[in-house]
Amino acid sequence: MSASDFFHLLRLHVSAPLVQEAAVTLSEAQGHYLRHVMRLESGAQIRLFNQEQGEWLGTLECPSKKLTVVQLLNLLRAPEVVLRQVHLVFSPIKKDRMDWLIEKAVELGVTDLHPVLMRRSVMRDIKVERVEAQIVEAAEQCERLDIPRLYPLESLPKFLKSHDGEQKIYAALERREAPVLSEIFDRTLDPYFYMIGPEGGFDPEEIALLCAQACIVPVSLGARILRAETAALFGLSSFLYENMKE
Ligand code: SAM
Repeated sequence: MSASDFFHLLRLHVSAPLVQEAAVTLSEAQGHYLRHVMRLESGAQIRLFNQEQGEWLGTLECPSKKLTVVQLLNLLRAPEVVLRQVHLVFSPIKKDRMDWLIEKAVELGVTDLHPVLMRRSVMRDIKVERVEAQIVEAAEQCERLDIPRLYPLESLPKFLKSHDGEQKIYAALERREAPVLSEIFDRTLDPYFYMIGPEGGFDPEEIALLCAQACIVPVSLGARILRAETAALFGLSSFLYENMKE
C-alpha cells in the first residue's frame, strides 16, 4: 500500500518522537477531539506527524476516559527538507480577517510568521496561543509536515533592527510607483521575506524608514488597493506560483 491509500485518515501533529512501535500519548484536547468530536474508537487508524520524523500510521487506543494513545505501525512519509524559507511580515489585523490570513498563509507555504506592530495597526496585540493553534490546525489539514514558526510581536523599527540586512524584504507599498512583485522575484534559494502594512496602510514616517533600508525592495501589487489579508495572500501565492515553475 502507498501513502496515498491513507490520505482519508485524520492526521494530527505531535511533538513526541515518532518511531516504529512507539506508543504516543495524545494531549487531552486531541483525545477529546478524536473520541468525542470525530467519534473514533479504539482500533481506528489515524496519522501522526512532525517535521523531524515525518508522518506515521497508527492505531488508536483508549485505555481510560482521559488517556488516549496511538500505537504506531509504520512510516507513511519520510521527513522533508524545507528548501526555501518563506517569511511573512504583517501587522495584526481584526480577528476574523486575521484567522483567515493565518490559515491561508499556512496553506500557501509560509514557514515564518512575523507579527509587527505598525503605527496604524488597529489591533495592538495578538493572541499567541490562539494563533499557534490555528497554525497547527491548518498544517494538519493541508498535509504539510512542518509547522510554521510564530515570532513574538515587535515594533517595526525593532524588527528592522534585528533583521539580517543581507536578506531582501519585498515590501508592498500602496499608492507608489514600484515594480510589480511578480516581475522581480529572485530565483535563488535565499529566504523570501514579504511585508505588508495594516488595514490603514503604512504611515508616511514608516514609508520613509522602510525606503531608507538597503534591504527593502518596494513592490506594487497592481492598481487596486487590496485588503491587508488579500495583499498577504497575493504575495505568498505569487511566490508559490513562481517557484512551482520549472
Ligand atoms: N488604507 C490604505 C489606503 O487606502 O491607501 C490601504 C492599506 S491596504 C488595505 C493594506 C496593505 O496592503 C498596504 O499597507 C500594503 O502593504 C498592501 N497593499 C494593498 N494594496 C496594494 C497595492 N496595490 N500595492 C502595494 N501594496 C498594497
